[in-house]
Amino acid sequence: MPQPAHSYVGRLAPSPTGLLHLGHARTFWRAFERARAAGGRLWLRDEDLDTQRSKPEFAEAMREDLHWLGIEWDDELRQSQRVPIYRNAAEQLVTTGLAYRCVCSRKDLQAAMQAPHEDTDEPVYNGRCRENNTERTFDAGSSYRLHVPDGERIAFVDGHCGAQSFLAGCDAEADFGDFLIWRKDGLPSYQLACVVDDAAMEVTEVVRGADLLKSTARQILLQRALGLPTPAYYHCELMRDEAGVRLAKRHDALSLKALRESGLTSGQIRAGF
Ligand code: GLU
Repeated sequence: MPQPAHSYVGRLAPSPTGLLHLGHARTFWRAFERARAAGGRLWLRDEDLDTQRSKPEFAEAMREDLHWLGIEWDDELRQSQRVPIYRNAAEQLVTTGLAYRCVCSRKDLQAAMQAPHEDTDEPVYNGRCRENNTERTFDAGSSYRLHVPDGERIAFVDGHCGAQSFLAGCDAEADFGDFLIWRKDGLPSYQLACVVDDAAMEVTEVVRGADLLKSTARQILLQRALGLPTPAYYHCELMRDEAGVRLAKRHDALSLKALRESGLTSGQIRAGF
């Protein structure tokens, strides 16, 4: 018997590059609650494409932390097992002339591997390699960027943060520019992998941190370019430390593991959300 299609499909998309902290816990709890309230399904997507920083012990720790918090999911996938699928999508963008080969710096390429959080977002690219846009063959050993429409505003209504609008282009006014979709070491960028997977998993609502709002605008452009549907978005407010700095994996004292070991219960943690 075919499974009935679920009207709500959500996902948890942690990167196993460090221990989960309170900020992740609150976002993932929200994602879990929203899926549960809608009677929907939830995926766990292991975003392990950052080959240098992803570690199996962090992947294991994140599962343990999520279970401890009381979060359950229905299915799992690991991005490192899906590279040929991302490659097909990149090839489609290149052969249709929507992405072009870029020969610029290694630093840009490194940045593309991770989701661009508040303090790590990539600079607006000046479009220098757009002249390569006449090539139509894809080479997995080269880097590629999506050619974004200059001066176009990408607008969407976020389920939590309300109306959003970001300007695409390659000048100083733009919020974001031509961004990497493929890296010359044969891996997709975070943006491409995320869009391909959200569509393949039939995600209907993406719940994640508000520092990815600008990435949502990029991802909407990628969805259009690939002919994929745009899910609903719900970006949770960021959790900050006492100095106002966004919590990150470097805040080890606020890791769920450290909090658990200090004797806090998961109920006490959830009560603070
Ligand atoms: N794995 C990403 C992160 O580190 C999350 C990406 C997403 O939810 O789209 O935050």
